[in-house]
Amino acid sequence: MKLAARITQVAPSMTLAIAAKAKAMKAEGLDVCSFSAGEPDFDTPEHIKIAAKLALDDGKTRYGPAVGEPGLREAIAQKLRSDNGLNYQKENVIITNGGKQSLYNLMQVLLDPGDEVIIPAPYWVSYPEMVKLAGGKPVIVQSTAEKDFKLTPEQIQQAITPKTRLLVFNSPSNPTGMVYTPDEVRAIAKVIVDNDILVVSDEIYEKILYGDAEHLSIGSIGPEIFKRTIVAHGFAKAYAMTGWRLGYLAGPVELIKAVTTLQSQSTSNVCTFAQYGAIAALEGSQDCVQTMLKAFAQRRIVMLEGLISIPGVYCPEPKGAFYAFPNVGQAGLGSIEFCERLLEEKHVAAVPGVAFGNDSCIRMSYATDLATIEEGLSRLASFMGSL
Ligand SMILES: *Cc1c(COP(=O)(O)O)cnc(C)c1O
Repeated sequence: MKLAARITQVAPSMTLAIAAKAKAMKAEGLDVCSFSAGEPDFDTPEHIKIAAKLALDDGKTRYGPAVGEPGLREAIAQKLRSDNGLNYQKENVIITNGGKQSLYNLMQVLLDPGDEVIIPAPYWVSYPEMVKLAGGKPVIVQSTAEKDFKLTPEQIQQAITPKTRLLVFNSPSNPTGMVYTPDEVRAIAKVIVDNDILVVSDEIYEKILYGDAEHLSIGSIGPEIFKRTIVAHGFAKAYAMTGWRLGYLAGPVELIKAVTTLQSQSTSNVCTFAQYGAIAALEGSQDCVQTMLKAFAQRRIVMLEGLISIPGVYCPEPKGAFYAFPNVGQAGLGSIEFCERLLEEKHVAAVPGVAFGNDSCIRMSYATDLATIEEGLSRLASFMGSL
């Protein structure tokens, strides 16, 4: 069948593909150590589930406004003001089908053919594809493990052309776990303002920070950057709500109106009763976030120490999210071949770095139990030794 050019130029999500293969091997009874999943291994906290159940019983089963339930939009605006210093009202917020749709819809309403979007690599798999689906041109700027996978303001400045509309900024980062310091965020904000472009700040991992890492919302630095900032966010990672499909976009009212129009003609509102779970997530106790964070923190140390002790593996210290992005380039294999052989020979699932724009690295998620991490690392060491 002849398909539209729009879809044939887009790659399927490699993270989802590897996770599916590892799951299938597990279902066959194989003992797979999986580090491929980009999701917490915890169940959604009880009080959030209860709130959604109550909403269901209460008849929140009908169409709602395409832009989202007013109570949730209000709760999000409140969160953005108090946690992040972003002066948003409910009118600045739209509820989307996951953080993923918030970014997808943003590209759809912002980009004309040929518009350029600067994407720092390693990047979350979906950014370049979303830009392409909107007719835009992803401009990938590489960072290296030696520089902690961070871009300098000079690198961003050099990538800007008259066609640049937007920078995608993701700190803490998936896949590297890197967190820009407040000073680094300020320096990048200055480049955005000086060149009068926009920035979308994907802050989905903002609560998942370790040690002395700090999260600064780029839009909170001052009025000039605030005007040029759009926040993409969601409930999946901090509240273990990946399957709920709840995210949001916050930004200038005219942009939110445009996204509302798009949603009104495409997906309409996000599952109505699920949105009540999200209200409980924001308004309830935040202890659940801390409990998960504590577990991630312990696993991070085991993962990092294990990785750096393997000859031929180099890994800068991740400061946020729940991923390590070790460089295994010394093995002399491309990252796809590396991960395929690792899965087939040692039953360890990791995601090839090429999916994130770096073919020397692999992504290891440590959102899994300690025993799996220890066993998986020992298999990885044995695999490296066998090459
Ligand atoms: C997981 C993730 C998202 C959004 O995920 P949803 O499940 O759609 O909410 C967005 N950005 C990054 C970097 C992510 O890792």
